[in-house]
Formats: sequence, structure tokens, C-alpha cells
Amino acid sequence: MRVTTTAPDWARPLVEQVCADYKRALPEKLQWYNTKEKHTSGHTRYSGKIHVSAGTDSWEHLPVLLHELAHWIIGRTPKGRRAGHNLAFWQLVAQLNAKHGDLGLAFKREVSLATEWRPGTRKTAVAVFAERGYRDEN
Ligand SMILES: [Zn+2]
Repeated sequence: MRVTTTAPDWARPLVEQVCADYKRALPEKLQWYNTKEKHTSGHTRYSGKIHVSAGTDSWEHLPVLLHELAHWIIGRTPKGRRAGHNLAFWQLVAQLNAKHGDLGLAFKREVSLATEWRPGTRKTAVAVFAERGYRDEN
């Protein structure tokens, strides 16, 4: 796995650990950009790249990388489509954050701050975090 030099030191071992835990090949590349934006975003190409645009609110970096790792672990659907933000995805996000991150911060990033989700997606995320004791105040 190639990792851009801008990535924080914890990123590579985290990707390696999560891929090993779920018996998934490493992505070819972890691309990390530090931006002047406040918020962090990411995307995953199933061809082999995880990309993080890291914002200035650095607490978001970990939950965003774990979110992208959940996409990487789940991979494509049997029909080759992107699996998307379904129940299995959010359960994996919660599991990864419980083990490697902070569920409260993940909840804040994925539910409280996230404006990008369609209502169904949001509802599923809210339900998964609610099972673990996090309540949506919005
Ligand atoms: Zn996503």
C-alpha cells in the first residue's frame, strides 16, 4: 500500500489492522490531502484507492477514515454496484469506531453534523447509533 506522506502516522497501521481483521486486501493507495476546509470528507474507489480530504477540525479525520474503511471492507454488491450506506454498512461503521475510534465522535460526524444523507440513509444511521446509546437531537 502506498501512503501519501501527508497522512498522519496512525493512518497506515489502522488501515493494515482493519484489513487484516476483516481479511480484506489492502488498498493500493491511501491518499491523504490536508485542506483548508473545516470539515473532512473521503471517498473510496473499489479499484484500490481510499482518499481523505482532511479538514482543519482534526477530530473528524479518524471517523472519516473509518467510514471509508467500512466501504472498502464491504466492497461492491454481487451485481458490482457500490453497496452504499445501508444497515450493514452503518453497523460496520459503529463496530470500527467502537474498536478503533470513539463512538461519540463518530455519531457527531455521521449523524449530528452530516447534512449529505438522504432521509432513509440518515434514519438507518440514527437507528444504529441509537442502539448503542447515542440519540439524535435534531
Ligand atoms: Zn460513505
